[in-house]
Amino acid sequence: MSRNAQPCPETPTEPHPASRPAGSALVTGASRGIGAAIARTLAADGWPVTLCYRQDEAAAKEVVAAIEQAGGTALAVRADVTDPGAVEALFAAAEARHGPVLVLVNNAGIRADQVFAAMEEADWQPVLDTNLGAVYRTMRRALPGMSRARFGRIVNIGSVLGRQSLPGVANYAAAKAGLEGLTRSVAIETARRGITVNAVAPGLVDTGLVRDVEFLRRSARSAIPLRRAAHPAEIAACVRFLASPEAGYVTGTTLTADGGLSAAA
Ligand code: NDP
Repeated sequence: MSRNAQPCPETPTEPHPASRPAGSALVTGASRGIGAAIARTLAADGWPVTLCYRQDEAAAKEVVAAIEQAGGTALAVRADVTDPGAVEALFAAAEARHGPVLVLVNNAGIRADQVFAAMEEADWQPVLDTNLGAVYRTMRRALPGMSRARFGRIVNIGSVLGRQSLPGVANYAAAKAGLEGLTRSVAIETARRGITVNAVAPGLVDTGLVRDVEFLRRSARSAIPLRRAAHPAEIAACVRFLASPEAGYVTGTTLTADGGLSAAA
């Protein structure tokens, strides 16, 4: 072989995946807020979507109706992501209706703010289990199907509070920091099977989760270079990219969507 015939190091060794395999998307905590926006966005991209919710059935059904009205396909399933049996039933329902889950968005999250000195087990455990334990649980359940398909997209919703902090959020900050570490570890273990695992870290987003904390919203707004909270659809747009076949070379990373907050810190 002549010197000029040597393959260039930048020559692609595999074809760019032009299409995605048949399958579906599953979004936890999709009855409202960011999860509802993500479900609608993935459905608009052609994924049959399973929405998981914990208690607000009416809200979840409204999201399904909106998706169907727009020409998409959706199913709402009640499941508490802290309950391993409920997670198994959730995936079984999703697979029975829509086929293998090839896009998993771990969005369900709660807060229970408390200064650390007064933070009881009852404040700590549910926050860790919903925001972090559930991510372990759903990824373990989803990965075999993604491995068989040689395609998978996992997007875990973190928070800027996984990296910066505020008083009173030790439980939430620990869970969201753990979520990023978990995301990186699973990403490197699954990359060879065509599966990507990433996180999205929003700053302040206009949803019920933060609506009650007016002082936090006021002070956060003054610290955010864009001077506003995000709309849930702006977070869904980040997930849409990471869930797409075109994002196949992005894994183990966190996409921060915080209006410049962390850049200014
Ligand atoms: P919301 O409170 O508006 O919605 C939370 C969703 O999670 C609801 O659909 C709720 O269902 C569901 N949920 C809660 N606990 C469980 C559970 N155990 N099992 C199943 N579903 C559950 O929250 P957001 O939309 O604001 O937050 C979504 C994600 O984004 C969370 O992970 C949050 O930490 C993160 N985030 C939010 C920010 C913000 O400013 N809003 C900033 C940074 C990150 P139901 O109503 O049926 O109980």
